[in-house]
Amino acid sequence: MGKLREFYRDTWAEVNLNAIEENVQAIKKSLPDGVAYMAVVKANAYGHGAVDVARSALKAGASYLGVAILDEALALRQAGIEAPILVLGYVRPADAALAKKYNITLTVFQKDWVKDALPHLEEGNGKLNLHLKIDTGMGRIGFRTEDEGRELLGFLRHNSSLFEVEGAYTHFATADEKGRSYIDEQHRTFEQFLGWMKAELKTAPPCIHSGNSATALRYKEYSYNMVRVGISMYGLAPSEEVKEEIEVPLKEAFSLHSRVTHCKKLSEGDGVSYGATYRAEKEEWVATIPIGYADGWIRANANGGEVLVNGRRAPIIGRICMDQLMIAVHENVPVGTKVTLIGSQGAETVSADEVARRLGTINYEIPCMISYRVPRAIYKNGELIHLHNEVF
Ligand SMILES: *Cc1c(COP(=O)(O)O)cnc(C)c1O
Repeated sequence: MGKLREFYRDTWAEVNLNAIEENVQAIKKSLPDGVAYMAVVKANAYGHGAVDVARSALKAGASYLGVAILDEALALRQAGIEAPILVLGYVRPADAALAKKYNITLTVFQKDWVKDALPHLEEGNGKLNLHLKIDTGMGRIGFRTEDEGRELLGFLRHNSSLFEVEGAYTHFATADEKGRSYIDEQHRTFEQFLGWMKAELKTAPPCIHSGNSATALRYKEYSYNMVRVGISMYGLAPSEEVKEEIEVPLKEAFSLHSRVTHCKKLSEGDGVSYGATYRAEKEEWVATIPIGYADGWIRANANGGEVLVNGRRAPIIGRICMDQLMIAVHENVPVGTKVTLIGSQGAETVSADEVARRLGTINYEIPCMISYRVPRAIYKNGELIHLHNEVF
């Protein structure tokens, strides 16, 4: 399970699986009875490590896993995870057989997809599990009209020896915003679709879902019988706009650390980094940290960015390089001193939200953008249980 390798650089991310488990339990407890929990672990579990997060989420009460692409689903199967997995994005019709072989559920929304998948599926060899996707206002994937939907359903019923329609779902575009008129309209459209689908199929598919984290936490009445939770499982609010409303306690699972590699005293006028855009105004201490934009710590982090050293904030100075950056420190800091870029030291915290604000983006992007070059150290009950090093 995972790679158990050392790493030889002083920059790493830590993932706290206890936080993941507590978040899953707290979110699940807040949902109406009988609402199943799909743990969304796409994009390597938003940069946290998909296999470990999936196992923790399942242990804490999740019963379904969600990923974006077939490759991610196959990686979970390869790791021995047997729970149901739904691919939320598009999969090529030619890969339908591969999905069926590994018991992976696919999202379908085009009649032609079903037609193109047919020659790849064998009769008498089980059914490919499908969830139908309706676009009620996200404008991304999904059929949009009743005609398209009826055509698709008709085609699936005609080939019911090959396809099992296990679920139907939609995705809300504004669940993380204060106004509710758009989501209410999407919900009305979804209800209409469910109405005629039930009439057509005589019974509703067992899995009906619409909610991401924001919906699960703010519109419980729209949960149906499953929610698809990503961001809040990782301990982050779905948006700044509704952060204050979230009552479920969430713990950030991801933190990012490094260590000082060099510390020196600059004299007045000395420049720092490419372009020498930073100039010391007086004698001052500057420390070098071995993390840069190739690690996903992009150059824009220099615009007002701060890190933690010895429990105090230290500003990033000068341009961020590919592999290193410099910070201003109060005193001579020994080589090896721990630096926290996301997370806490003593009473000080730099949250993923703070980094996102600084970069003018959303917290979702922050753990996702920390690159393959940063090893992930996975902790459970305070103990290091796995190290994922993609470099060596
Ligand atoms: C990523 C994704 C989710 C999870 O969204 P969060 O806001 O992270 O909870 C849910 N549903 C779909 C279709 C997704 O693509």
